[in-house]
Amino acid sequence: MNSTNKIPKATAKRLPIYYRYLRYLHEDGKDRVSSTELSEAVKVDSATIRRDFSYFGALGKRGYGYDVEDLMHFFSKTLKQDRLTNVALIGVGNLGHALLNYNFHQNNNMRISAAFDINKEIVGTIQSGVPVYPMEDMVQQLKMQQIDVVMLTVPTSAAQEAANNLVKAEVKGILNFTPIRISVPDHVRVQNVDLANELQTLIYFIDHYKTDDKDS
Ligand code: ATP
Repeated sequence: MNSTNKIPKATAKRLPIYYRYLRYLHEDGKDRVSSTELSEAVKVDSATIRRDFSYFGALGKRGYGYDVEDLMHFFSKTLKQDRLTNVALIGVGNLGHALLNYNFHQNNNMRISAAFDINKEIVGTIQSGVPVYPMEDMVQQLKMQQIDVVMLTVPTSAAQEAANNLVKAEVKGILNFTPIRISVPDHVRVQNVDLANELQTLIYFIDHYKTDDKDS
């Protein structure tokens, strides 16, 4: 299959959704799936699915559909789910604790293997199975453990400084749960997850749009 470097971001965002459903089909003993079946299950129209898959050279066969196992293995590799990815968590407050408790490993090959905080009460302890290190050790630990991806759950006031240190630690990606937009060099990818914002948007949509406007 082709290189995955140039696929549109919208396609990339759908990959985990496809992957999850393909795994489900595989566990259910299904060998093949049509784009129409997939479409109904993952709520993406079948033309979009065909276009998404064509970026990977997975064209499907007329009257046969897609080979579930092939596609599942391919997505697994593409999403780096064929090997365990260690990620770190910075800021073990309420949200940080919730993330530490969340079992990323259950359905996906990811786990939080290190956490960092300034709070002396928890530094040096193990929280939900994850060691908490002092912030002073962050750059060294991240490099040593070859951790490229971190989740940032520090208070807003501490976010930019933490991000600066993460850049020093040469991380490649930051899942930013703080409400501020952190500044990092272009080679570091930031994904913002602002839960309050999402909730506000949902409330606004419910108040202002009818459900049949959903996709527009
Ligand atoms: P949350 O925002 O996750 O609900 P909280 O309200 O429990 O958290 P916050 O004050 O937001 O607490 O702090 C989150 C965590 O970040 C705490 O464990 C705190 O000790 C830690 N923290 C605060 N400042 C820093 C910093 N500069 N570097 C790293 N961790 C920090």
